[in-house]
Amino acid sequence: MRQSKLFTKTRKEAPADEVSKNAQLLIQAGFIYKNMAGVYTFLPLGLRVIEKIKDIIRDEMNAIGGQEMYMPSLQDSEIWRQTDRWSDEKVDVWFKTELKAGGEVGLAWTHEEVITDLMRQYVSSYKDLPLFAYHIQTKFRNEMRAKSGIMRTREFWMKDLYSFSATEEQHHKFYEECAQAYKRIFDRIGIGDKTYRTFASGGAFTKFSHEFQTLAEAGEDVVYVNEAKGIAVNEEVLAEADLGELGVTRDELEKRKSIEVGNIFSLGTKFSEALGLTFMDENGAPQPVIMGSYGIGPARAMGTVVDLLADEKGIVWPESIAPFLVHLVVLNNDDEEIRDWADGIYDSLTESGVEVLYDDRDARAGEKFADSDLIGIPYRVIISRKTKAEGKFEVVTRATGDTKLVTEAELSTMFVK
Ligand code: ATP
Ligand code: MG
Repeated sequence: MRQSKLFTKTRKEAPADEVSKNAQLLIQAGFIYKNMAGVYTFLPLGLRVIEKIKDIIRDEMNAIGGQEMYMPSLQDSEIWRQTDRWSDEKVDVWFKTELKAGGEVGLAWTHEEVITDLMRQYVSSYKDLPLFAYHIQTKFRNEMRAKSGIMRTREFWMKDLYSFSATEEQHHKFYEECAQAYKRIFDRIGIGDKTYRTFASGGAFTKFSHEFQTLAEAGEDVVYVNEAKGIAVNEEVLAEADLGELGVTRDELEKRKSIEVGNIFSLGTKFSEALGLTFMDENGAPQPVIMGSYGIGPARAMGTVVDLLADEKGIVWPESIAPFLVHLVVLNNDDEEIRDWADGIYDSLTESGVEVLYDDRDARAGEKFADSDLIGIPYRVIISRKTKAEGKFEVVTRATGDTKLVTEAELSTMFVK
């Protein structure tokens, strides 16, 4: 991508109406645009990042047997009445509207009802189970507060997977596999070392469900953590948790702020009973299906990465989710010879499959470097008169600032996977 063609521009200053670091940096660098409080556009750079995060999630969900589908946002109020989750007293985040043809509909804030209802068509015997289905889809929530940038919005993508099992053993096997997959996802997007599987409230069988909480000052949640032992407990269950069983004492736990990047829940038979999702067991007796739900917010994860890894100069993307791997920055491009040389490097890197943002703009070196730091692409390759005589380029690693000089031959292989 040629930066001269990119319709977004960086801004000199962070937007004054944003309080969160993730939104300030992402808006300033041109990854997102704020349409209204809690509603953002993902611009070309931002879309590249979020799609990479979704692909990592998809990859790990497929690896544990998840089957991707796509369920709608518009919701028939009827099925939600059957689970007693239609009323605003029970659920305070609904966006509701009416059909012109008559009838109330809501915008989905989660999908347990929809998927349980539709599975009645496809599940009839224990032989159909277990099965795991997911989608990465837009949720709408009328959140009271939207101050954490892209980490708490009123319209957001969620990956939500639902498991359907015949026995508790089947359920627990998958629950653990999914927890491991979540760990791999957070490792791959670069926040694994700060992300804990915490004990949370609300599980249907066991007393607890689990959340994946990333330690961060910007977090809205509070966890009690022992970093050395890798144990964390949510604030609201601290009193109930049997710490002895977990292998820590209260004194060994430190209070920290954190961001809930994902969660996994045992739902038991709550939804299958309410909506009549049953299967015939081996003795031919009807049984309610045992369910679980497993959520991740890709944009919340993206905001968390920005928050944790950014430095005073701007965003720092891990390679796995960076919008581009290489930021090719040409200086002295009023010099035709240098410009041609840079164009050639851009073409050859692109042809070898390397994702390159090419700063071919007519701008001062200082401005280009400041923008490059702000945007946060992992490697900056600088083409300038200074090193041309030796036929070399400067390669700067964004995260560490390490700089080295490489030849054209070295450059042609160093980024090729
Ligand atoms: P929270 O307690 O932070 O409101 P939640 O318990 O409502 O989260 P779920 O309904 O289980 O979360 O959603 C699953 C995942 O979706 C969360 O772990 C989070 O990563 C993401 N998520 C939830 N709400 C939002 C939101 N308003 N904006 C962006 N991502 C969200
Ligand atoms: Mg919520």
